[in-house]
Amino acid sequence: MFINPYQNFTEADIPLRANFHTHAGTGRRTCGFHRLKDVLQNYQRTGYQILCISNHNCNIKKIGKMIFPDPLKFRHYAKDLMQVPGFEYSFTPHVVVVGTKEFLNKDGLHQEAIDLAVNAGGFAVLAHPHWLRDDYLTKENMEKFRGYAGIEVLNGSMEYARCVFQERENKCYAGDVLDYLLSKGLLKWAFANDDFHRWNHLANAWNMIYCKKTPEDLYRAVRQGEFYASTGVSLSYLRLENGVISMACRNGEYVKEPMRYRFIGFEGKLLQETEGTEASYTLRGDEKYVRVEVVSPSGTMLITNPVYDDAFFRK
Ligand SMILES: [Zn+2]
Ligand SMILES: [Zn+2]
Repeated sequence: MFINPYQNFTEADIPLRANFHTHAGTGRRTCGFHRLKDVLQNYQRTGYQILCISNHNCNIKKIGKMIFPDPLKFRHYAKDLMQVPGFEYSFTPHVVVVGTKEFLNKDGLHQEAIDLAVNAGGFAVLAHPHWLRDDYLTKENMEKFRGYAGIEVLNGSMEYARCVFQERENKCYAGDVLDYLLSKGLLKWAFANDDFHRWNHLANAWNMIYCKKTPEDLYRAVRQGEFYASTGVSLSYLRLENGVISMACRNGEYVKEPMRYRFIGFEGKLLQETEGTEASYTLRGDEKYVRVEVVSPSGTMLITNPVYDDAFFRK
């Protein structure tokens, strides 16, 4: 049976905007160069409701405690922004660990880092799969690690972050990695994060999450895949009825304009490409999964989580 993570949501359901990968408050000559207060306030002003400051664990000696800001302690800087704790496990390959106040600072403990998040009720995301080189995130690691929620299908701090994200030579895009995982029967989700270091990374790529503004409901929604990745395109609805996937998007909050809808399936195969203000795809039944990438005329995009055949995915 095909499962649609967006089945319960209509245009009336407003998802919350979230970035889980942010470096801030660690001082000069570090990744988190900008002041925590300024970063929190600017995310709030830009329209975010959820933020995780996820500094590098390896900076601990240099900067001490400030690298893992306690969300409650710094709440007064941006009261409307729900902060969740976390860090970036920064031994290759990097892992964004969300939902725990503990951290690890030793190489080779990737699985333990993922488990820290999961055991605290949170989640872990494998970061920037194509950073430095195409196979930064190796197939071996992707298949070996257990329990992570997904990958950064978009990373907003990589080169050409402002260009169309889908170009293959553009390393901030990793839809191909997601297709690899899904085609292996590993049900993983598509995250988009700024990986904020400097102001030009602010609000490049984000997650829209159908949840209440509590950490528990956020983590629940993420586990269920009830969110999508975006660089500016919003989802109006994505339905699955009588074997037909139908969806509509808008540019930003309100603008309805024709967009390119790309329905992608097993092993990254392009199943259908449609241009219009809405699109639909009729399931044959043997797809295993169908995910959609939507590109607006201005080059902004949206990447959905897969509609998936639960018989194929062993959760
Ligand atoms: Zn990183
Ligand atoms: Zn980072």
